[in-house]
Amino acid sequence: MLKDKIRLLAENIHGDVIIHRRFLHSNPELSFQEYHTSAFVKSCLDELGISWHPLAGTGVVGIIKGDKPSDAVIALRGDMDALPITEANDVPYKSQNEGVMHACGHDVHTSSLLGTARILQSLKAEFGGTVKLIFQPGEEKLPGGANMMIQEGVLENPKPQAILGQHVMPLIKAGKIGMRAGKYMASTDEIYVTVKGKGGHGAQPQQNIDPVVIAANIIVSLQQIVSRAADPRLPTVLSFGKVIANGATNVIPNEVYLEGTFRTLDEKWRAEAHLRMKKMAESIAEGMGGSCEFNIVNGYPFLINEEKLTAEVRGYAEDYLGKENVEDLDIWMAAEDFAYYSQVTDACFYRLGIRNEERGITSSVHTPTFDIDETALVCSTGLMAYLAVKRLGN
Ligand SMILES: [Zn+2]
Ligand SMILES: [Zn+2]
Repeated sequence: MLKDKIRLLAENIHGDVIIHRRFLHSNPELSFQEYHTSAFVKSCLDELGISWHPLAGTGVVGIIKGDKPSDAVIALRGDMDALPITEANDVPYKSQNEGVMHACGHDVHTSSLLGTARILQSLKAEFGGTVKLIFQPGEEKLPGGANMMIQEGVLENPKPQAILGQHVMPLIKAGKIGMRAGKYMASTDEIYVTVKGKGGHGAQPQQNIDPVVIAANIIVSLQQIVSRAADPRLPTVLSFGKVIANGATNVIPNEVYLEGTFRTLDEKWRAEAHLRMKKMAESIAEGMGGSCEFNIVNGYPFLINEEKLTAEVRGYAEDYLGKENVEDLDIWMAAEDFAYYSQVTDACFYRLGIRNEERGITSSVHTPTFDIDETALVCSTGLMAYLAVKRLGN
């Protein structure tokens, strides 16, 4: 049976996948600078006899065609970039690139996709359809590598009917995965506000226009967009994490600078909320005698796992891993540029368990102590290969 063959292959290549993952972990590169990573992926694909072409700078797209006749196409996505974090783990495969670390597990995603490619390539005679391997740059940084890959045609010629992606999740034990059908992750927009007033002596407020009080009013009032204007059934988050009013105990500054994030799960509401926030902030500032420059930088859209595809894929995952090893996921208000794929094609983004409490592997992604239980690399390669061939109709 195909399932047993894939299981065996995933076990057999486990050692090599660990070596690949550790190599990538030791040599992390920042978003859109994945030059060595990209070269490594290309050389691995060459070694496997898989044809590829470059895309969006450091991106790589590999193609595997099953020998049996079929027009079905599926895309599998792995991201390659690392973060500007200094690794605190004392491990043999510690980052050799000072100040840069694979703290989001993209080394796992890339090495796993290479492992999946190896399994599929060796099973070519036994399935029909085309598998598109998407190694994308720049997930961690706007405008997002996924966005660039799509603009440069990654979802054309041949056009996949579905795309799958996996991402490490420290809350889930190694050997298990998490899935969620429907809306899963949030759109994320960056907010930059400059509130302008007229500074002066703190003892003479009547002669000044205090931007600190205006900014305070704006921060408090904008929360009513979340509590009063947003549909209570639709998650919405607004947080300001940076407030700079560089006066003194007795000095009212000329201006106050704010930075925040706005997140939700609906594109229509997202656009409406942007307008409402801007209008509210500007009119508060104006009403209090000052002014306000309210700028929003659009981040990634929300991520939706297409219901039918996800139900189908979940069935295959339960078949491969056992029902008890497929957990339900909650909505997660972080962002992920896989969302771009999900906006234009049927997509399923699932979570790979990597946790091992006995061994102290529990750190969150984006922290200097993030690491994985490498036994997860058996599941990550074999499962994705199985999902791909099943979805292709084999
Ligand atoms: Zn990340
Ligand atoms: Zn990530």
